[in-house]
Amino acid sequence: MTVTIGHPVYAGMGRTIFDHMSGLARELGAINLGQGFPEGPEPRELIEAAARALRERSNQYPPSAGLPELRDAVAAYYGRRQRLALERGNVVVTSGATEAICSAVLALVQPGDEVLLFAPAYDAYAPMVRRCGGVPVFVALRPPGWGYDETAIRAAISARTRVVMLNDPLNPMGTVATPDELAMLARLCLEHDLLAICDEVWEEVRFDGRAHASLLGEPGMADRVVKIGSAGKLFGMTGWKIGWMIAGEELATLVARAHQFVTFTTAPALQWAVAEGLGWGEDWFEGQHAARAAQRARLQGGLAEAGFAVMANAATWFVCVDLAASGIALDDTAFSERAVREAGVASIPVSALYEEADAPKGFARLCFTKPDAQIDEAVARLGRFRAGL
Ligand code: GLN
Repeated sequence: MTVTIGHPVYAGMGRTIFDHMSGLARELGAINLGQGFPEGPEPRELIEAAARALRERSNQYPPSAGLPELRDAVAAYYGRRQRLALERGNVVVTSGATEAICSAVLALVQPGDEVLLFAPAYDAYAPMVRRCGGVPVFVALRPPGWGYDETAIRAAISARTRVVMLNDPLNPMGTVATPDELAMLARLCLEHDLLAICDEVWEEVRFDGRAHASLLGEPGMADRVVKIGSAGKLFGMTGWKIGWMIAGEELATLVARAHQFVTFTTAPALQWAVAEGLGWGEDWFEGQHAARAAQRARLQGGLAEAGFAVMANAATWFVCVDLAASGIALDDTAFSERAVREAGVASIPVSALYEEADAPKGFARLCFTKPDAQIDEAVARLGRFRAGL
């Protein structure tokens, strides 16, 4: 159902593609490789930590910026993993990364500001920018590399550009900005006095053997970047909705002021559990990573054997298939809509994350964080569907 009353940003808007596909999967009993979330055993020790906190600790409002223990744990985690020198004052805990994006946009975007976005763009970015009176200006990333083209970016920057939003690693393609691209983006921010909102929720879900590097770590960028992270992605617990914003102290204080009037604060038991989890040894994270890598290889291998052209990627819980190269003469929307109904497998059409009419329409995204039997069954169904087209 669409509505006609209310703010024009939302009136006439449909459900998100993720909600639409999960709804269809539920309704049709399809295997859901659409919306990105893990199925299968969940980290027992994290659930125990949350249960303990629910029973033994306060269930009243934590401080708006987050439990000090969690802010310290986030700072220490990034010090260890990404060599960022952070303190409690650089961390604001939010109710998931989506709230962090909302709070950051509320704090930084003023009416009339142009905000540079890269497409494919996570579906929340542009509506939030518009709701704040900002004007999204898209630079489209293109297959096969989905790289950042300096000429195109320069052409999109105007005197009114104030903020750039970067999702690296990139959902849905799973690609990662190269060190040269990050340096170029930092240079442009400095040259044009831009702030950056960096959605880095996939930072640790990496399969290229490289450690994540944030735009925040580029020379001169420490006071220009709001870096967003997610416990949902780090621990595979998407329903917990624990995220955070990292920034230099002045910017962190500013985004905290916006956050205090969005959700104010976030469930304390879940904050305690994440604080505990972030302190676990590398073994724990490596174990989880190895399990994800095996699931990824299983879906990639199965799809390739079933005749699908699987695209190279370096990160995220997703693989994308190239439909034309797989011998499928459907665009991505038709493929996803038919596959969920006729094959019983939900996917995400990549073009749903572009606004422009000439978006690439030949790629569908599939989530691999599922039990082996589910991956195998999905592959078998998709293989039969492809063969029958
Ligand atoms: N980040 C999730 C994905 O890309 C979607 C989250 C949501 O549905 N809002 O699949």
